[in-house]
Amino acid sequence: MTRRALILGGGTGGTLVANRLRRTQSASDLEIVVVDTDDRHLYQPGLLFIPFGLGSLEKITRSRREQLSAGISFRQDEVDRVETSTNQVHFVGGESLGYDVLVVASGCVLQPEETDGLTGPGWMERVFSFYSPEGAVALRDRLASFDAGRIVVNVVDLPIKCPVAPLEFCFLADWFFTKRGVRDQIEIVYVTPLDGAFTKPVAAKALAGLLDEKGIQLVTEFNTGEVDGLGGRLVAYDGSEQQFDLAVVVPLHGGAPFVGRSPGLGDELGFMVVDDHTLQSVASPNVFAIGDAAGVPASKAGSVAHFEGEVLVENLTRFLAGEALNASFDGHTNCFIETGFDKALLIDFNYDTEPLPGHYPAALGLPLLKESRLNHLGKLGFQWAYWHSLLPGRDIPGVGSEMPQRGKQLRSRS
Ligand SMILES: Cc1cc2nc3c(=O)[nH]c(=O)nc-3n(C[C@H](O)[C@H](O)[C@H](O)COP(=O)(O)OP(=O)(O)OC[C@H]3O[C@@H](n4cnc5c(N)ncnc54)[C@H](O)[C@@H]3O)c2cc1C
Repeated sequence: MTRRALILGGGTGGTLVANRLRRTQSASDLEIVVVDTDDRHLYQPGLLFIPFGLGSLEKITRSRREQLSAGISFRQDEVDRVETSTNQVHFVGGESLGYDVLVVASGCVLQPEETDGLTGPGWMERVFSFYSPEGAVALRDRLASFDAGRIVVNVVDLPIKCPVAPLEFCFLADWFFTKRGVRDQIEIVYVTPLDGAFTKPVAAKALAGLLDEKGIQLVTEFNTGEVDGLGGRLVAYDGSEQQFDLAVVVPLHGGAPFVGRSPGLGDELGFMVVDDHTLQSVASPNVFAIGDAAGVPASKAGSVAHFEGEVLVENLTRFLAGEALNASFDGHTNCFIETGFDKALLIDFNYDTEPLPGHYPAALGLPLLKESRLNHLGKLGFQWAYWHSLLPGRDIPGVGSEMPQRGKQLRSRS
């Protein structure tokens, strides 16, 4: 009997899991269906570069359907809710589809309307977000003529996708305005709710040092409650304010709304409640999650979806065979951090080990927590690897699910 794997979301995680799974399971044993609302797959890390004229939406968008291997069905539809008691997914149009195993890969939604004033007067004129395609393009048009003033780059609250992207924005802004000869007329301020530049102490220190070197101010423990686009003010819950001429805001993130409408699946933010190591839902054993949709204590990053994918496909295969799951996902994350002037840092960490100096993936690899041109080339080359290795579900040599210890200057977590 042919069983059905239903994958909700055809972004990074959904696509790579479908392609990996197709390779391990024959079509006569398992039908694989990927659902998404549209046929536009966006390489989201490319959004960072658009405001600085270093890329275009056309260059980072491809057909979702075409990223799926032969033997995988694509259904363009919107999920309304999941009913785990009957193994059914209901779509907004009223149809439904049953499953034997379900993978929730529906990512995050941006919630700018949840912050007072953010989408009010000044939105997309003086207040922008490069986290959406239309925001990145509107910001590019504004930055092209911005010659003087105070720019604040603000993270409203965590979790967000790619927590280093707002820092990268600051570094690239420093480079962009220096190149245009107006840097000394522009103040760049990074405003974060955290108590440092980043969540993990060693990386936070290194990144704060870089901000300082580049003359970018760091404002910590600022919890934005309101954005006043007309008056040019961020107002925190404690009453403190940050003035701006231009604000670049990373809005609140939540899980896909259908998760919240599906009994038992999500947490209070709409992210899937799953085991941190097997990615299996606590609500139902034949339901799993991957990528940003998963409420695990790892970063919301494409690299995490990639590393989770290896473990998840093994667990889907084991589940279908009636075998015990493999609890080996260790929270492995790695991110290139673009620092401007053709340089980048690399960080690599997991649930237990914070980003540390050294080299990745071994003693002769890329430098960790250190600016280098090699890391910048790695960041630029990653788009090619995304379309040709990561999404097709091919293994990338030396880049595996388990975080490598070799090459790291190890110390225990403080
Ligand atoms: C500006 C920016 C920079 C980034 N830089 C990096 C980086 O340098 N490195 C890195 O590793 N990561 C980076 N990321 C993060 C990375 O892009 C995401 O973590 C990754 O794409 C997550 O994959 P996913 O499959 O979980 O979600 P997505 O790729 O977002 O896919 C989720 C899919 O689910 C679909 N969906 C949602 N709801 C429904 C529904 N009701 N019905 C049907 N379909 C639905 C959506 O349409 C979407 O296609 C960046 C992100 C941003 C925004």
